[in-house]
Amino acid sequence: RLEVRNLIRRFDGRTVVDDVSLAIEPGQVTCLLGPSGCGKSTTLRMIAGVDMQDQGSIWVDGKLICDTVFRIPPERRAIGLMFQDFALFPHLSVAENVAFGLPKGATRDMRRVEELLDRVSLSGFGPKFPHELSGGEQQRVALARALAPRPRILLMDEPFSGLDERLRDGIRDDTLSLLKEEGTAVLLVTHEPHEAMRMADEIALMRSGRIVQRGAPYNIYNAPVDRAAAGFFSDIN
Ligand code: ATP
Ligand code: MG
Repeated sequence: RLEVRNLIRRFDGRTVVDDVSLAIEPGQVTCLLGPSGCGKSTTLRMIAGVDMQDQGSIWVDGKLICDTVFRIPPERRAIGLMFQDFALFPHLSVAENVAFGLPKGATRDMRRVEELLDRVSLSGFGPKFPHELSGGEQQRVALARALAPRPRILLMDEPFSGLDERLRDGIRDDTLSLLKEEGTAVLLVTHEPHEAMRMADEIALMRSGRIVQRGAPYNIYNAPVDRAAAGFFSDIN
C-alpha cells in the first residue's frame, strides 16, 4: 500500500504540486488524470525518489520511505517504474531486458522471465533484440521488465502514449489483466480521460497541482466536481 501525504513541490517559487495526498491499495489501479502541465509527472518522480519534495511524506505499507529529512534512495524503494521515455536497453536481448531487475548469476529466475514473456504473448521472443520488435511489442517487454522483480507498487507515466491509437485499447486491456493477476498497486499517470475510464479503479483528477476530485470512474464521469472537470471529460469517445 502506497500512501502520499501532503506533497508539495516548488520550482523557481512556483508551486507545481500543491498539497497532494493519495493512497493506493494492492490490486488497484489509481489513475492520476489531468491536463498537460498540472504536475502529474512531478508527483510520480517524487514517489519514485528521483525528485525530492519540499514538503510532505511518502509511506509504503505503513513505513516511511521519504520525508524532508529522511530519504530511502530510489533503488531501495521496491517500487517498479514504467515511464514513456524509459526505453529498453538496445544492446540487451528481450530476455535480458526482462531479467534486468532480477538477481544476477546462477540464481537468476529465468522461469519468471519465461512466464512473463508468455503472459504478454511474447513467448519465443527472448533471444530477439529490441530493434526487431514493433512499438507495441517493445511496450509489452517494458511491462514484463517492470513486473519481473514483483514490485508491490508500480508507477506508470503515460505508458501507452507512443503507440498507435488502434493498438492502445488492446494493450490497455492486456496490461490491466496482468496487473490484476500480479496484485500490484498501480499509480498510472495519464492526460486521457478515456484511458482513465477504461483502466482505473479510482481516478484522482488533478488540476494546477491539486487533486480536485477523487472517486470511481463512473462517479467522476457522472458527477464532475465543476465545469472544468465536466469539460475535461466531454470529448471522451
Ligand atoms: P504532461 O501531461 O504534459 O506530461 P505533467 O502533468 O506531467 O504534464 P509535470 O511534468 O509534472 O506536468 O510539470 C508540471 C509543471 O512543472 C510544468 O509547468 C513544468 O514546466 C514544471 N516543471 C517540471 N519539472 C521542472 C523542473 N525540473 N524545473 C522547473 N520546472 C519544472
Ligand atoms: Mg508528464
